[in-house]
Amino acid sequence: MNIHEYQAKRLLAKYGVPVPRGNVAYTPHEAVDAAKDLGGPVYVVKSQIHAGGRGAGRFQNNPDGKGGVRICKSIDEVRDNAEEMLGQVLVTKQTGEQGKEVNRLYVEEGADIKRELYLALLIDRATSRVTIMASTEGGMEIEEVAARTPEKILREIIDPATGVMPYHARKIAFGLGFEGKQIGTFVKFLSSLYKAFLELDASLVEINPLIVTGDGSILPLDAKMNFDDNALFRQKEVVEMRDLDEEDPAEIEASQHELNYIKLDGNIGCMVNGAGLAMATMDIIKLYGGEPANFLDVGGGANKERVVAAFKIILSDKNVEGILVNIFGGIVRCDVIAEAIVAAAQEVELHVPLVVRLEGTNVEMGKKILEESGLTIIAADNLADGAEKVVKATREAA
Ligand code: ADP
Ligand code: MG
Repeated sequence: MNIHEYQAKRLLAKYGVPVPRGNVAYTPHEAVDAAKDLGGPVYVVKSQIHAGGRGAGRFQNNPDGKGGVRICKSIDEVRDNAEEMLGQVLVTKQTGEQGKEVNRLYVEEGADIKRELYLALLIDRATSRVTIMASTEGGMEIEEVAARTPEKILREIIDPATGVMPYHARKIAFGLGFEGKQIGTFVKFLSSLYKAFLELDASLVEINPLIVTGDGSILPLDAKMNFDDNALFRQKEVVEMRDLDEEDPAEIEASQHELNYIKLDGNIGCMVNGAGLAMATMDIIKLYGGEPANFLDVGGGANKERVVAAFKIILSDKNVEGILVNIFGGIVRCDVIAEAIVAAAQEVELHVPLVVRLEGTNVEMGKKILEESGLTIIAADNLADGAEKVVKATREAA
């Protein structure tokens, strides 16, 4: 799960990370109030969307105009810029060309930036540990730094038994060019950040840029946080920050039915039980020249209601021109799945070819139910056969 910049800053502040002052605004009027509250002299009005690159982004209605982060010198400027941005679609490197609608702004005090650095905590899958990444090349995309000047990225892997030790922080502090009092400040900053990361079950905290101000303070000017979905049950405050406007409606619907659904760009819808089998199914569809429209794991305990919901979600994607159901009946029985498929196909008026591969417990009963249903279902004997058939049927139907 993702949250907005202002929410991340609010959470970090609770853990003792110093952050610039600011207020969220949903209307130009609120933006003005927020600015008055800050008192100036410089205000920054920042579009809040779940994507980075806002500063360099462009609004769809005014591609030659300014980006999604605007420095303002007066309350009137704050109002004008808030009016210009709210309700408009911002396109950045990270949003894709469809962009994201700006419905919230963050009005923040303008910072006196002397240096822009990069700092992130993330989970490194190779070592299964939290890793600190830092660079003197802040403000630009870290992927670019990694590609062009990989030696400028510092890394420290943290042992979970010890957590961030002062020597880790000092090493990074020296690498970032901090001196004197700043080293101690940074050590404190990093340990607060690490505590927030752990206690909030984050999977990423990215501060880009981390700045040094004219008076030598160290501040996060931007903050991005991602959280482990599997830990949300114990992160009430984080869950309350969820902004459904930022999420795909089909994915929200899927999560309500405990389905793991991720929309993709292809035209072959997949309904599978088990994440591993779902991935294998997507691979084999590609092997036969097709493109999966989604990842969908109906889970081990799939019942009729869930299968029907899954069908509806798959078909709500207008790109879907064929469906492959690939179920291995273990805990869930094939006859139950077959009944659910029949019920779903009748309920949603299936208009695309449907290939079904069933295997496992009660498979014969399942196949019989499908045969006797009167539905045009293409039966497949194994995974390869299923993939080949769905690719072929989808092509012929198109
Ligand atoms: P994004 O990464 O989405 O473009 P940032 O929050 O990093 O958004 O802002 C982009 C740039 O805008 C920053 O690198 C910084 O130069 C400037 N900026 C952002 N917030 C402030 C602020 N409060 N004061 C001064 N400059 C800011
Ligand atoms: Mg940034």
